[in-house]
Amino acid sequence: MVAAAVPHRDPRAPRVLLIGLIFGPPGSGKGTQAARVEKEFDMSHLSTGEILRSEVAHGSAVGKEAARIMAAGDLVPDELIDRIVESRLGRTNPTESVLLDGFPRTTQQAKALDLMLAELGRRVDFVVALDVPEGLLVDRLLHRAQVEGRADDTREAIMERMHEYHARTAPVLDHYRRAGVPVAEVEGVGEVDEVFDRVRDAIKRVAGRI
Ligand code: ADP
Repeated sequence: MVAAAVPHRDPRAPRVLLIGLIFGPPGSGKGTQAARVEKEFDMSHLSTGEILRSEVAHGSAVGKEAARIMAAGDLVPDELIDRIVESRLGRTNPTESVLLDGFPRTTQQAKALDLMLAELGRRVDFVVALDVPEGLLVDRLLHRAQVEGRADDTREAIMERMHEYHARTAPVLDHYRRAGVPVAEVEGVGEVDEVFDRVRDAIKRVAGRI
C-alpha cells in the first residue's frame, strides 16, 4: 500500500512534551512570566519559592526549617529542596510538560535534577533566562515589599539574594550551556506583555527544534 501524503500533523500524534526552566535573578519577573507560559504552552508550573512559602504558611516541619533562611535571603539546603522537587516530579504524569521556576538554583541542584529526569526518561529541553539590570531589580523588589509584604523583600535580604544569585545560581546557566541545552536569554525590561512576547518566541524557537 502506498502511504498517502499527510498534509497536516496528525492531531492524535503526541504533542511535544517539554521540561523547561525559567531562570533569572530575584525580581526579574520569573513568576509572572511563568504563569503566562503555563497557560500558553499548557505546562505545569512548579515554583520552589511558592512551594516553600506555602510550607511556611502551613507551619510544616519543612516550613519551620525554611522560614528563617528565606527571610534572611539565603538559599535553603540543597537536599531539602531536591527532595521536594523529586516528590513533585514523581507525581507528574509522563504526558505532562513542566516549567520549573526557581529550581535549580545551584549547580548541585542542577545535577540532582538531571539525574531525577534521567530516571523518568526525560531531560531539560530549554532554559529561558530573563535579563534585567540590577538597579531595576532592587527597585522592583522594594516596590513589591510595599504591595505584597513578602518577608524576604527587605533591603538587607534583597542584597543577600542578589549575592547568592551571582555566586551560586548564575553558574547553573553554564552547566546547561555545556550540556548543549538551548539557553535563550530574553530581555526582561518592559511591559509584562512585551516581555512575554519575547519569552513565547524564544520557547517556540526551541520547541520547534525538538
Ligand atoms: P526570588 O527569585 O524573588 O528570590 P523565589 O520565590 O524564587 O523568589 O524564592 C524565594 C526564596 O525561597 C529564596 O530566596 C530561597 O530562600 C528559597 N528558595 C526557592 N527556591 C530555592 C532553591 N531551589 N534552592 C534553595 N532555596 C530556594
